[in-house]
Amino acid sequence: MKRIVILGGSFAGLTAAYKLKRNLREDAEIILISRTDKFWFIPSLIWVPFGRRKRDQISFDLKEALEKQGILFYHEGAKQIFPEKNLLTTEKRDLSYDYLIIATGPAYNFQLLSGLGPKTGYTHSVCNINEAEECKNAWEEFVKDPGPIVVGATQFASCFGAAYEVIFNVEHQLRKLKIRKKVPSITYLTSEPFLSHFGIGGMFGSRPMIEAFFKFRGISAITNAAIKEIQTNKILLEDGREVPFKFAIIIPPFVGQDVVRNSEGIGNEKGFVEVDHEYRHKKYKNIFAAGVAAVVPSPGPTPIPVGVPKTGYMSEVMAEVAAKNIIADIKNTKHKPKPFEKITPLCIMDAGDMEVFIVGTNMFPPRKFNALIPNIFGDWMKILFEKYYLWKMKTGRVYLP
Ligand SMILES: Cc1cc2nc3c(=O)[nH]c(=O)nc-3n(C[C@H](O)[C@H](O)[C@H](O)COP(=O)(O)OP(=O)(O)OC[C@H]3O[C@@H](n4cnc5c(N)ncnc54)[C@H](O)[C@@H]3O)c2cc1C
Repeated sequence: MKRIVILGGSFAGLTAAYKLKRNLREDAEIILISRTDKFWFIPSLIWVPFGRRKRDQISFDLKEALEKQGILFYHEGAKQIFPEKNLLTTEKRDLSYDYLIIATGPAYNFQLLSGLGPKTGYTHSVCNINEAEECKNAWEEFVKDPGPIVVGATQFASCFGAAYEVIFNVEHQLRKLKIRKKVPSITYLTSEPFLSHFGIGGMFGSRPMIEAFFKFRGISAITNAAIKEIQTNKILLEDGREVPFKFAIIIPPFVGQDVVRNSEGIGNEKGFVEVDHEYRHKKYKNIFAAGVAAVVPSPGPTPIPVGVPKTGYMSEVMAEVAAKNIIADIKNTKHKPKPFEKITPLCIMDAGDMEVFIVGTNMFPPRKFNALIPNIFGDWMKILFEKYYLWKMKTGRVYLP
């Protein structure tokens, strides 16, 4: 019996675990290790600061869900991988494996810039539930005595979609609270070369749409921005400009998790894992990486460096491909690669009081087809999807769309 160990219990890790168990049944022992004991629907974190979503509405317990499917769950952090020995260490044990899937997502590099982040700086973040809840407290204080707002993403960040969603929600909340006029400026600050580049080179029709949304809502934008430093009430840019703020949410740069950075021969200098089109490690053929943990190609250089986003859907697809190829190894069947560039960009972007459904044929331009379809009747599709997705993942139905 083969032992397959999966590091990470989120979009990529959970998808891989269910897929492997469903196909291999008693032929493999599947163990999932996660530092968090819950699955979090991270896309809904953008609503936590404004009270629209609370922790219990967007999470479920991994242990119960996994054990129901016959998958072992260890709630602990993985510390180091020894690929030559097919062995890894965690906070609690040493564990050997036949196959390993690294799905540990990103760590957030707040240290890159002085003054960045809620712990060591002056900006807020919504990248995990604790930060999002801290941000909620700060927002509640801010609305009592408002001032200028900045929302954005630093150089090397790769989650621009979330920054757009946050700024639209901020503006919408101010209107709801009838204090929009008390806020002198709302600025979107981004390393993207143009609005709606998203780190994937943009999409046909996206730029005029986002520019119109900004104009209509009175949001100004600074693109090609490289942040030098953040001080108590202002952001200093490398080109000498200063952007004042009283409340700021800035997406930080992403790096790989410690377990990858501490393991020789596993990751690149940033701690992400180089993989082939099967999401298999370039050197160690029994190690795979999926989701944000994997290195993916880029659409080309930009004046200020940006990261390529790896959304929940892309993370799932990568994990599915990795799982299929492990199954092919074990059952000696045909391998099924899928290059990252061929994955469909697919997501719903919340725009405050409405949402936009985004779909395309492939990741980077030129694309045969892409569409951005606004839902002008509200922003309920994403909430419905959240509920459906949590049910799907809790019950292990990863074969559903
Ligand atoms: C604010 C925000 C909004 C977003 N909105 C959207 C959206 O609207 N749509 C969309 O498609 N995508 C969105 N994304 C992106 C989406 O959340 C990611 O694509 C997705 O979470 C990536 O999944 P993953 O499994 O690769 O990693 P993660 O979700 O980051 O999960 C990593 C897992 O690894 C575990 N882990 C980490 N280190 C260790 C360790 N050493 N040992 C054991 N376990 C470890 C963690 O506990 C976690 O379970 C958003 C992201 C953010 C931050």
